[in-house]
Amino acid sequence: MRTPLWFPYAQMKTLPPPLRVVHAEGTCLHLDDGRTLIDAIASWWCMIHGYNHPALNAALTEQAGHFAHVMLGGLVHAPAERLAETLVRISPPGLAHVFFGDSGSVAMEVAMKMAIQVWRNRGMPKKHRFLALRRAYHGDTCGVMSISDPDDGMHRLFAGLLPTQLFVDPPAPLAATTPETLAADTARLESMLKTHADELAAFVVEPILQGAGGIHFYDPAYLHMARTLCDRYGVLLVFDEIATGFGRTGTLFAAEQAQVTPDIMAVGKGLTAGYLGHGATLCTEAVFDAFYTDNPEDALMHGPTFMGNPLACAVALESIRLFFEEGCLARIGRIEAQLRAELLPLRHASIRDVRVKGAAGCVEVGEAKVLEGVQTFAAERGVWLRPFSTPGGAYLYTMPPYCITEEELARVIEVIRAWFVR
Ligand SMILES: *Cc1c(COP(=O)(O)O)cnc(C)c1O
Repeated sequence: MRTPLWFPYAQMKTLPPPLRVVHAEGTCLHLDDGRTLIDAIASWWCMIHGYNHPALNAALTEQAGHFAHVMLGGLVHAPAERLAETLVRISPPGLAHVFFGDSGSVAMEVAMKMAIQVWRNRGMPKKHRFLALRRAYHGDTCGVMSISDPDDGMHRLFAGLLPTQLFVDPPAPLAATTPETLAADTARLESMLKTHADELAAFVVEPILQGAGGIHFYDPAYLHMARTLCDRYGVLLVFDEIATGFGRTGTLFAAEQAQVTPDIMAVGKGLTAGYLGHGATLCTEAVFDAFYTDNPEDALMHGPTFMGNPLACAVALESIRLFFEEGCLARIGRIEAQLRAELLPLRHASIRDVRVKGAAGCVEVGEAKVLEGVQTFAAERGVWLRPFSTPGGAYLYTMPPYCITEEELARVIEVIRAWFVR
């Protein structure tokens, strides 16, 4: 396609024409050819309440009637203040300050800059590197590419141009975790932290669920142990909750399952229920204190044009209100139970693993070839799926909006099953 519009992660020359959406409502995408598809992946996991939600629409319209945007440099407004207060109230105890960014990647860039500058401001400028997990994905901008999996096809191309960070193998899969695997994972992490403590600013992880690296779930005990080790070796702990935040793994934030408060935490995606791009970087009082001095040079030098955008903040506040009012955690529990009952038993010669946690289910196969054509196959049967592959495997997964009905989810699972059992 030689169109003016350039598509993501795509070889434009061979890209098949994308499906054309003319309307969307609830979990459904309505196409120009009259078809209706159940969106089983919530538009890259962000449309947590589904499309065209009347309450979210109303929050946007109401704010737009006042003002759509003002800068946060020297000006302030109620939606940004209220969202910061709300995020502090609902996030793990100890997180006390919120810096807004305009996307998930930017929220993580800010997390990295914060972590580096904490140590600079404390007089330890040598602590500026990061330790991350293999298979990690933290976004597409240059800073966060350096802490995403170094061998993953997505960013390999830029390897020589980015700062070189340190990596450690991810913990054992959730279903295979034993005291022995945990001990081995602990030893591996401790060895890295110990050896590199004098140059490490932070250890960065996607808690509980490594998303774009292959929908890899792991045991919260790993995070608990990581908190202890990071404290022991004087390394900050950063949680990237951009995919896991707002319920995806069964609790509002994945950190809750480990009963751990990170020093810095980034949110995005579901923050605005997918209505507008926005992100936020939260930090503890201790991190904030490193910037809170009489020296102007100690200030956090960051400020995206659209940070704290009033429309984004208004819709985020309404989304958080809905999350509790509509009992989303109970809905996520029902989605998990249904995925366990109907997806988890799926077996086939080409399937390597099936796993479920919260409102996420994944079928892993050995190679991308096995899933070639599944997107069209599913769309012909009324379901929107988008598998992806990494050098380690290929993944057909669902992460639906929480408003998906039992019948709709049954349909999604049936279509996934039908692809293998044809
Ligand atoms: C999607 C994602 C990001 C990047 O967010 P964008 O809004 O696409 O910039 C970062 N980290 C994780 C874990 C993600 O899933």
